[in-house]
Amino acid sequence: MKYKAYSLSNYLTLPQIEKISAEKKSSIEVVGSVLPFKVSNYVTDELIDWDDYENDPIFHLTFPQKEMLLPHHFNKMAEALVQSSDKQFHKNISNEIRLELNPHPAGQREQNIPKVEGLELLGTQHKYRETVLFFPSSGQTCHSYCTFCFRWPQFVGMDELKFAMKETELLIKYLEIHHEATDILFTGGDPMIMSFKVFEKYIEPFLYDYKKTNIQTIRIGTKSLAFWPYKFLTDDDADDFLRLFEKIISKGINLAIMAHFSHPRELATAAVQKAIKRIRNTGAQIRTQSPILRHINDKAEIWSEMWRNQVNFNCIPYYMFVPRDTGAQHYFAVTLLEAWEIWRKAYQNVSGVCRTVRGPSMSCSPGKVQFLGVGEVNHEKVFVLRFLQGRNPDWVARPFFAKYYENAIWMSDLKPAFGEKFFFEDEEETLFGEKYIDRETSNYE
Ligand SMILES: *Cc1c(COP(=O)(O)O)cnc(C)c1O
Ligand code: SF4
Repeated sequence: MKYKAYSLSNYLTLPQIEKISAEKKSSIEVVGSVLPFKVSNYVTDELIDWDDYENDPIFHLTFPQKEMLLPHHFNKMAEALVQSSDKQFHKNISNEIRLELNPHPAGQREQNIPKVEGLELLGTQHKYRETVLFFPSSGQTCHSYCTFCFRWPQFVGMDELKFAMKETELLIKYLEIHHEATDILFTGGDPMIMSFKVFEKYIEPFLYDYKKTNIQTIRIGTKSLAFWPYKFLTDDDADDFLRLFEKIISKGINLAIMAHFSHPRELATAAVQKAIKRIRNTGAQIRTQSPILRHINDKAEIWSEMWRNQVNFNCIPYYMFVPRDTGAQHYFAVTLLEAWEIWRKAYQNVSGVCRTVRGPSMSCSPGKVQFLGVGEVNHEKVFVLRFLQGRNPDWVARPFFAKYYENAIWMSDLKPAFGEKFFFEDEEETLFGEKYIDRETSNYE
């Protein structure tokens, strides 16, 4: 696979480029100067339908669109590109815009970093009792970039926004003390961007020292099945990865590939189907998840087809997420009500074996909150919610109510239906002090 510098001719064949209108090309250039852009030739050759690219979900998923920037940001960047040909000038302008989009304001990211022996584990996050997130520093990029992704500060070379940890040693020490953690979740970027040689270094300590920890499941969050299934087929080290998966499982550790699929198209190629088979043959599970996104998968039929196909291919549907604030939330967001309508219709149209999926779920400060839908109490319409995960595990599976609000797109738009506060608010403050700022802002976990 080849990655080249930014320019359409580096990513697309001439016949593909000729299909794109001049206007589209220039808006791709403008937006692509601010938001990260990278696409694999598997995506451009096997997933995108260039004859209908304007409506193509995978085109929207990977190619910058004009409306992803707010008009004043778009114009500012467009003018800069016209004004001067100085690359540094372009960079300065795009950094100014990025800082305004930055979902992780400085300072706040420093909270909630686990510590061991007084040292901070910079590349880890331990928010929910059972599961520790780990961001290996070599896994901070991806095979292609999703245009909705909140993790872009990690990709665009603004170093102070990047957090990662080289040392698994410290992490293992932490896990030796914290036996409540049964799961370690490798995330990124995409850990499957790593070569086998590097990846093995991260996994090996778990194979030899795991008995001192209480780790029972290793999860790997990845979009590689959708963006580069050859990782498990024809890459030089494809077989090494599969043998390592077998080795993990032979140690009695459960291995779950948390695969990110946003559209049934991503499951339709011979390559992905074969890659899924090879992974499943190692004994690893594949669990699937995606945010719900306007322009990409905002229809019930898309989700029911996706879940059905996943189950047919031996994968387990796991999460439907509501996307949180990303640089382009105005472009991708659906309201909670729309998300629930789509969820409900899709869920009603699949059999029980697909209903392992949970959602629509918001990863927010107190926990993962599922929007259960609209109920009626004393002739008043209310939103019914519950925690799927909570900073306090005792909050999980307790239904609670918010005022009906048609335009709500996120937890922060909601107000308690009865009383002054949600049941967890006082406790969140006394137990945890300041509100939690998600560093990983899970569209992905
Ligand atoms: C989602 C998430 C997890 C994993 O939660 P599960 O419900 O077990 O999949 C772990 N840590 C964080 C911070 C998360 O957002
Ligand atoms: S959603 Fe995943 S694969 Fe897509 S850009 Fe973000 S981290 Fe990379």
